[in-house]
Order: sequence, then structure tokens, then C-alpha cells
Amino acid sequence: MRSISTLLLLAIVTDGVWAEDKKKDPGQIGNRDVGKGVNFYSLEKEIALGRQMAQEVQREAKINDDPILSEYVNRVGQNLVRNSDAKVPFSFKVIEADDLNAFALPGGYVFVNTGLIVMAEEEDEFAGAVAHEIAHVAARHMTRQATKSQIANIATVPLSVLLGGWAGVAARQAGGLAIPMTFLSFSRKDESEADYLGLQYMYAAGYDPNGAISIFEKLEALSRRKPGAVSRLFSTHPMDGDRIRNAEKEIQEILPGRKEYVVSTSEYHDVRARLLKFASRRKPEEPDNRPRLIKPLTPHEN
Ligand code: ZN
Repeated sequence: MRSISTLLLLAIVTDGVWAEDKKKDPGQIGNRDVGKGVNFYSLEKEIALGRQMAQEVQREAKINDDPILSEYVNRVGQNLVRNSDAKVPFSFKVIEADDLNAFALPGGYVFVNTGLIVMAEEEDEFAGAVAHEIAHVAARHMTRQATKSQIANIATVPLSVLLGGWAGVAARQAGGLAIPMTFLSFSRKDESEADYLGLQYMYAAGYDPNGAISIFEKLEALSRRKPGAVSRLFSTHPMDGDRIRNAEKEIQEILPGRKEYVVSTSEYHDVRARLLKFASRRKPEEPDNRPRLIKPLTPHEN
């Protein structure tokens, strides 16, 4: 009897060790259950919940529907999803907002602010941020977190916290809209897990994982220099030196160097330039008192 329970215990421990080993091995992506853990939500329920939340975001936020940009962002995102542990279908949408933000809702609904594309000068930086969001979904952080606190509807925050910036002001004025906070407040442990897995996904998709370091550093510098420019969502789990050092360590230890990586593509540069061109033509939504150069539009500036 005693030997059976010892064996059983040993089996559980070994299983745990294997699971941890697999998590370190990007060659095992897709064969490891990274979303395992106590969860009241079935995957179907999680997708339905995410869909409902995504509809609210789409109603309230200003979605950038430039077909070229949307198609491109979706393509980059789906390529990362194919190289991830995620088990749900994904959709990617672009929100017209200047603050640096990307977020994922339960069940694979990812939103990316135009501000992120402006900040990410190369495709691997952009991919690093998107891969991090995919990792939150793959590891089912939102529903596991909600399960842990055993509530889905008690603590709620206005959508404005989620969207931040000007879009947030608009959402606040629209009023009354709330997203359960439990789905969006990640623990420090969840953040580092999303960093850890996200780095592997971008590596598996062929990107230079150093792109993630580069966008992390930009985020960190920006949050120090101009706290308001980084969404408040980031401020609950700020990008800090530890996260950057951990990512560097991970690259050294578990992501064997390759001869060639994708750093950027000319398509990324084209799409970004197109966005910057549109952005410069947009009228500011709020008056500010900074002096600016007024440049008349000439006919070839289309
Ligand atoms: Zn995160």
C-alpha cells in the first residue's frame, strides 16, 4: 500500500518535472498543456465570454479598419498563433489610439493600438508584443485568474482603463461600460510566464527574439519618461529591468542561436509608413497648446 502511494506520488512529481522541462523546450510547443490549472471555464465558455467582451470593445473603441493594415496585423498574428501552444482560434484588431498598448481578451481576441505600431520600428519588436498577448491566452491566464478569485462579475472596471488615452475618454463619455477586472489583472507570475512563452513563440515563428528585448526596453524607457503614454494596464505590472534581464537569460539558455532570423520585413516598413502618413493627417482629437508647424497639403501628398 505504502509503495503504491509512493509510486503515485513519484508519478505526480515526475509529471510535474516533465511539464516544466517541456515548457523550456520550444521544440515541444503545441505538445505541452501550458493552460493547465484549475479553471471553471471550459474552452467553449471562455471563447463565448471573450467574444462578448470583444464586441463591447469594438462598439466603444475606434477600430482602424484600413484593410491593408488589418490584413497584415492579422497575418503576423496568425503566424505567431500557429507557432504557439494556444488551442483557440484568434482574431486580431487594430484600435486607433496613440498610447502604447496591446491586450488580449479570453478566448483569443487580441487588440493592438496603432501607438504600438508607431513605437515598434521593426517587425520583430511588434511580433514580440503580440506574442506576449498570445501567451496570456495560451496559458489561459484570464479565466484561471477569474477562477482563482471565484468571481467574474463583482469587481469591474470601466472600459476606459482598458483602452486608456483619448479612446478611454470617449469610452467614459459613452458611459456605463465595464469589463470584469479579474480578466485583465495579471499577477507578476502571469506576466513573466507570458514573457517566457511569448519569446519562444516568436523564436519558433522565425523572428529574432532580441526584438522582444528591444520593445521591452522602449516600453521601460517610455514609462519612465512619459508615464501617461503607456497604458495604465502596463502600469500595474510595469516593464522593469528584471523582466528584461529574464528575457536575456532565456534567450541565452533555451533558445539556441540560428544563422538567420527575421528582424523585419519591407512589408512591415510599408504598412507602418502608411499608418504614420494617415496619422499625420488625422486631426488631433483634443486641443493642446504645443506649438506645431502648419504645413499645407500639396496635391502629391496622397
Ligand atoms: Zn502581459
